[in-house]
Amino acid sequence: MTGPPRNFGAELAVVGSGMAGLAASVFAANRHITTALTGNSGALAYTTGYLDLLGRVDGSTAEVADPWLALEDLRQARPSHPLARIAAADIRAAFDEFTAFVGEHGIAYSPAGAHNICALTPAGTLKRTLCVPATMAAGPRAVSEKAACVIVDFEGLKGFSAREVVAHLAGRWPAIEARRVAFPGMPRGEVYAEVMARAMEVPATRERLAEVLRGVAGAARVIGLPAMLGMHRPDRVHAELQRLTGLEIFEIPTLPPSVPGVRLRELLEQALPKAGVTLIPQHKVAQVSFDADGAALLLHDSFGPIRIRARAVILATGRFLSGGLEAHPNGIREPLLNLPVTQPAGRADWYRERYTDSRGHPLHRAGIEIDAESRPLGPRGRPLDDRLFAAGVIVAHQDWIRSRSGAGIAIATAYQAVAAAQRYLGPRPPPGAPR
Ligand SMILES: Cc1cc2nc3c(=O)[nH]c(=O)nc-3n(C[C@H](O)[C@H](O)[C@H](O)COP(=O)(O)OP(=O)(O)OC[C@H]3O[C@@H](n4cnc5c(N)ncnc54)[C@H](O)[C@@H]3O)c2cc1C
Repeated sequence: MTGPPRNFGAELAVVGSGMAGLAASVFAANRHITTALTGNSGALAYTTGYLDLLGRVDGSTAEVADPWLALEDLRQARPSHPLARIAAADIRAAFDEFTAFVGEHGIAYSPAGAHNICALTPAGTLKRTLCVPATMAAGPRAVSEKAACVIVDFEGLKGFSAREVVAHLAGRWPAIEARRVAFPGMPRGEVYAEVMARAMEVPATRERLAEVLRGVAGAARVIGLPAMLGMHRPDRVHAELQRLTGLEIFEIPTLPPSVPGVRLRELLEQALPKAGVTLIPQHKVAQVSFDADGAALLLHDSFGPIRIRARAVILATGRFLSGGLEAHPNGIREPLLNLPVTQPAGRADWYRERYTDSRGHPLHRAGIEIDAESRPLGPRGRPLDDRLFAAGVIVAHQDWIRSRSGAGIAIATAYQAVAAAQRYLGPRPPPGAPR
């Protein structure tokens, strides 16, 4: 069945609703730029919820304690890296603005500080990150203070083991123990973090879990749980569970798909329309073209075509996992606009011989080139169109997995792309001014 055509108009169309597309929409909404956002859920549901800026220096296995200092080194060593091309003050402003927005809507974050935080991974190893959700903040604190702590997991929960976390940490943190409990009100068998998170929004479930936790805490004053403290307003669930138990509680991210990632996505999908953004979710743009009046974007669903007209476009379609780049036997392609992709000379050069090579694999630095105004370069090395901008990990010259800089690249390049789009679209009232 084909319905009538659906047409949307906006000043800015954002293609891709991963971290970069969502952050770009936050920045655009704050700047009074009317925005239409489209894309599938992307990699956001896989994230730990941590916002990394720079956790490792390229080509080294050394952990970065001060990411701002490491950015200086990055500027010298890899001037074409997207983070090396953005002023530190802008990167900080981007983190502050993004975390303020999600904080206002129910997921508070620790502020972007002078140093990285040493945060727990799902396995109980430690990684460096810049900002952590408030529900996880007591974890790094307990690690550094070596406070007496019980890590709790749940019968039937796959992918998170309190014993594994404790096995990794016990050498440096002797006062840590593992306990397994049954999640209240769940039938025996498999349980899922997402289902527990939604159940935690019910006051009676919180009361029953509080009782269980008090029973296993012993002399410990701190409890670590897999991330499941509510899907919406986790800060409220967290505070309530602390009040009910009288204990300090922190979440540890679980393996993907993880509650903190789904939370962020659901929060932004609810908050952005309230901020004036037109959200066209779970659709992929099939075609983007530019004419004298601006950009035309075409999408299809089972009811027929959807058209978006916009004056400018931000491309934030990610890499291979999200379909922003495609790997073919004869090379890597950018499928939407056929933009040139900087990539290794041949397929034989994609990977190094050893999977664990500390230099990483050349394939992971592939991506599109942008100029100083965030405009993707076309085949002649000039901007493909003055109205097209790009953000996120689709941009070349970075290996975000190895350098622990996924959110940092997404948020900072989104900030830069929106600033450039605003210069093109014309002046606005300052961020935060009444609409
Ligand atoms: C397992 C995992 C764990 C992670 N953990 C962390 C972490 O701990 N800390 C951290 O900082 N970062 C982490 N990240 C990285 C982070 O989640 C983002 O992937 C990264 O920041 C890149 O964001 P992006 O928006 O550029 O790309 P993506 O997140 O890949 O988003 C791209 C978006 O574009 C959409 N898209 C693609 N093609 C089209 C099209 N034609 N039309 C419309 N939409 C399209 C996709 O559907 C998707 O929504 C993790 C990622 C993964 C996969």
